Amino acid sequence: MIIDHWIDGGRVPNSTPDQAPITDPATGHETGQVGLAASTDIDAAVASAKRAFATWRDASLARRTEIMFSFRRLLDDNRSRLAEAITTQHGKVFADALGEVQRGIEVAEFACGIPHLLRGEMTPDVSTSVDAFSMRQPLGVVAGITPFNFPIMVPMWMVPMAIACGNTFVLKPSEKDPAGSMLLAELFGDAGLPPGVLNVLHGDANAVNGLLDHPDVSAVSFVGSTPIARHIYQRATAAGKRVQALGGAKNHMVVLPDADIGQAADAAVSAGYGSAGERCMAISVVVAVGDVGDRLIPAMVERTNALRIGPGMSEQPMDMGALVTAAHRDRVRGYVDLGESEGAELVLDGRDLHVEGHPDGFWLGPCLFDRVTPDMKIYQDEIFGPVLAVVRVDTYDEAVALVNANPYGNGTAIFTNDGGAARLFQREVQVGMVGINVPIPVPMAYHSFGGWKDSLFGDTHVYGAEGVKFYTRYKAVTVRWPDPNERGVDLGFPQAT
Ligand code: NAD
Repeated sequence: MIIDHWIDGGRVPNSTPDQAPITDPATGHETGQVGLAASTDIDAAVASAKRAFATWRDASLARRTEIMFSFRRLLDDNRSRLAEAITTQHGKVFADALGEVQRGIEVAEFACGIPHLLRGEMTPDVSTSVDAFSMRQPLGVVAGITPFNFPIMVPMWMVPMAIACGNTFVLKPSEKDPAGSMLLAELFGDAGLPPGVLNVLHGDANAVNGLLDHPDVSAVSFVGSTPIARHIYQRATAAGKRVQALGGAKNHMVVLPDADIGQAADAAVSAGYGSAGERCMAISVVVAVGDVGDRLIPAMVERTNALRIGPGMSEQPMDMGALVTAAHRDRVRGYVDLGESEGAELVLDGRDLHVEGHPDGFWLGPCLFDRVTPDMKIYQDEIFGPVLAVVRVDTYDEAVALVNANPYGNGTAIFTNDGGAARLFQREVQVGMVGINVPIPVPMAYHSFGGWKDSLFGDTHVYGAEGVKFYTRYKAVTVRWPDPNERGVDLGFPQAT
């Protein structure tokens, strides 16, 4: 299987022989190749989007909405196909992939309401014979660059909102699992989206940098790791573009002594090991306050030992699949070795996991460290795998200080039965998305998603009302239809009369 670009409404092969392999993480076998765009391909995708913008920007809201409703229906009809494309290239289990598709569909549903979202404001009679109103207009060609871990959902955070707002789009998905974005482009085409409104360009850093520097790209939405997010923000803003760049995470789950320990253990195991820890909202640090550690860890171990780990597409449902590539699995495993040498207590060691019939899959079982301290690399770095760290602290204040001192600020959660403590936490924690007895507080499509500090560069979050704001420019119009008898020169600064 060779994955081509999607340009001007159809598949277009790469202009050079440069390719990268695609693997099925459960088998470890290569299943295809994806082209790596050169400057000719980048120019072709942007030129197609630029041509399409000339007419798409004026497409009526009725037409845009009709396409979005059709797209939403096609997504619904193709859930299994989309989820299979995710599982066979990313490695997460099929049920989890279906969940990802659902969260993407919800953004398409929100985008169906675009006429309401783009409604401006009008004030009649701001001065004699003068009315004022505001409108929001599209930016032009928008580039979207997305990570491997949500190959359908993260593109869906961007594309429906951007194009419903009247922009055209060039999507550069992760080269590790590019099939999902091609299905999205196909379904949009079937829904009646005109050629060029959505293009999919495959590639690596070269393709990304070509888009960041391209004079015909007006704005960039990025989701990925923090070092790359910082690079994207700096390079694209230097080129005069509007940028939102969402970065990595180290999400803490604080457990207070009064919490329901069973509920907290369920949450920590689900949010720590779901999707093999390859979620930007995964819990990677459990902050055990007071005596919580002694009660929580045995409950977590019991639940973790019951997890079924295996191929994401297997007939027998699994809880956790393989990691995305061999290189990533080895990197994560390296952190487990490091944690041991740093002196953390390895309570669960998943390094020897063998999955029957799949000897070459990229496996790593759940790993749990206790007595991790903030000076350890396993605490500081985003590991992005099934490795959970427990940090023990004495008080609530210490727990909040720990979360707030961390350079990342994507998600956090607190588990407690004390409403006052929870309320204090939600106010004083320096993190963009907060869960109270909710471990993965990913906002619904009608709110907006985004972190603080090193988890987001730029000032608008994605989708929801913030998405509309990011993908449009505000314009204020002042109109005078004077009384035919009113005339006269006036050099003074305009004032309402
Ligand atoms: P990544 O940063 O390696 O890659 C993201 C995208 O950037 C890919 O399309 C990739 O091709 C491109 N890229 C990689 N290196 C580049 C370079 N040097 N120059 C320009 N472009 C480059 O991220 P990943 O490994 O695909 O995804 C995992 C990361 O994404 C984790 O850090 C995770 O926390 C983060 N993430 C964050 C969110 C969020 O909402 N904040 C959501 C999902 C994932």
